[in-house]
Amino acid sequence: MALTKVTERIYYLINNKETDRPVLGYIKGDKYSLMVDAGNSKNHVEKFNDSIEKLNLKLPDYVAITHWHWDHSYGMHAVTGKTIACEITNEQLKVMSEWQWTDEAMKKRLLTGEDIEFADTNIRKEYKAFQDIKVITADIVFKNNLKIDLGGVTVILKNVISPHSEDSVIVYVPEEKVVFIGDAYGMDYYNNCKYDPVKLESFIYMLNNLEFNLCFSGHSSPINKTEIIEYLKLQHNKICIDND
Ligand SMILES: [Zn+2]
Repeated sequence: MALTKVTERIYYLINNKETDRPVLGYIKGDKYSLMVDAGNSKNHVEKFNDSIEKLNLKLPDYVAITHWHWDHSYGMHAVTGKTIACEITNEQLKVMSEWQWTDEAMKKRLLTGEDIEFADTNIRKEYKAFQDIKVITADIVFKNNLKIDLGGVTVILKNVISPHSEDSVIVYVPEEKVVFIGDAYGMDYYNNCKYDPVKLESFIYMLNNLEFNLCFSGHSSPINKTEIIEYLKLQHNKICIDND
């Protein structure tokens, strides 16, 4: 699968459900380029880098992480650029960097609730050998927001309120009217699949106030602003009916 070009400066590698590989983004500046999310493994990163080189593009100088979940962060050790995460993401990366990767340790984490079945199943599919799993912390850590000038295009990283995880970061590219939201719109799988209506409302409000045409979520094809807002409002209504 090759990289898809969506605007003059934005490309992406589509997600792959087989081992829960998320969408990876690429933002091309005149001076620097930035990758959105590090993927779930070295193999995932290599696939992305191969597609980059085929298009004669530069390998990323920076890699921004949307949240700590394994599928978005376990490729960090294999990327070429400097990795960037918000403080809360980095704290969790630190915790995971100390995890043991044996069958026994993994099963134990499922019992304690540190990890979840869905992640465990897909990690076992993605990795033939557990010793290949390497979790590292980020090179650059920010609190709340970070603005990066890539040359001719700006990237704004922003830690937002989201029902998915406390550390959710959106990657906004104002000049291209594009936003990468990772999994920020979804439920919290690490908290009994809680879908918090108040946090979702806040997330919808934030998106509504952002000027963009195209929205990339972590595990599906890009959609436009009206589509994502409508979808999220529908989700919000469903939660509220379920909670009644
Ligand atoms: Zn996630």
